[in-house]
Amino acid sequence: MDKILLHMCCGPCSCYPVKKLREEGIEPVGYFFNPNIHPYQEWERRLQTAGEFAQKVNMEFHADENYGLRDFMKKALPAEALPNGRCEMCYTWRLEETARFAAEHGFEAFTSTLFYSIYQQHGLMRRTAEHFAQKYGVKFYYEDFRPGWQEGIDISLELGLYRQPYCGCVFSEEERYTKSVSNREKKRRMKEKLQMAEAAEQKLLAARL
Ligand code: SF4
Repeated sequence: MDKILLHMCCGPCSCYPVKKLREEGIEPVGYFFNPNIHPYQEWERRLQTAGEFAQKVNMEFHADENYGLRDFMKKALPAEALPNGRCEMCYTWRLEETARFAAEHGFEAFTSTLFYSIYQQHGLMRRTAEHFAQKYGVKFYYEDFRPGWQEGIDISLELGLYRQPYCGCVFSEEERYTKSVSNREKKRRMKEKLQMAEAAEQKLLAARL
C-alpha cells in the first residue's frame, strides 16, 4: 500500500500521523469531515488550519465544506440520553463517512487522526472503523499514534498552527469552560474514564482469546 485516506479531525492532530505514515512509506491524502465542530467560526478556523497544514507539508487534501450543526444536533440529542452515546455517534458518523469516501474514491485503505488523540476512546473507535471497513470493502489501517502525542504538539507549534481549546461540539465547549468543575478535575475525570474504557477493552480482548 502506498497511498491511504487519512481522516483529519484537525490540523494539529494530523502532524504526527502524517510524519509517521510517511516514515513507513505510506503517502496520506487528507480528508476533513467534521460536522461535530461548532460554532461556525470555530469549524471554519479548524477547516482552514487543516488546509494550511496540508499545504505546508505538501499533502493532497479534500474537505467536506458543509457546516453540520443541525444534522449533528438531530443525532446528538437522542444519543445524549445513552451512556457515552454522543461520542459514540460522533465517531461512528465520521468513521463511516471516511470509509465510504475511501471506497468511492478508489483508496485501498483509510485511517484517522482520531487514533492520535489521548482523549478519545481508542478501543471503541478501532472497533467502529473495523466494522465500516468491512461494510464498505476497504481496509482499515490501524496504528496507535498516541505515543507521538508530544511530538505532534511540538510540530504543530513549529508550524504555527491554530490549536483549539476543546474537542469540537457545543457540549464539549460547555464542559471545557464550565466553572463548577476545575480544569484539573476535568482532566483527572477524563483520564479516569479513558483508563476504565481501555481496561474494559483489554478484558474483552482477553476473553476472546
Ligand atoms: S466531545 Fe468530541 S467526540 Fe464527543 S461528541 Fe463532542 S466533538 Fe464528538
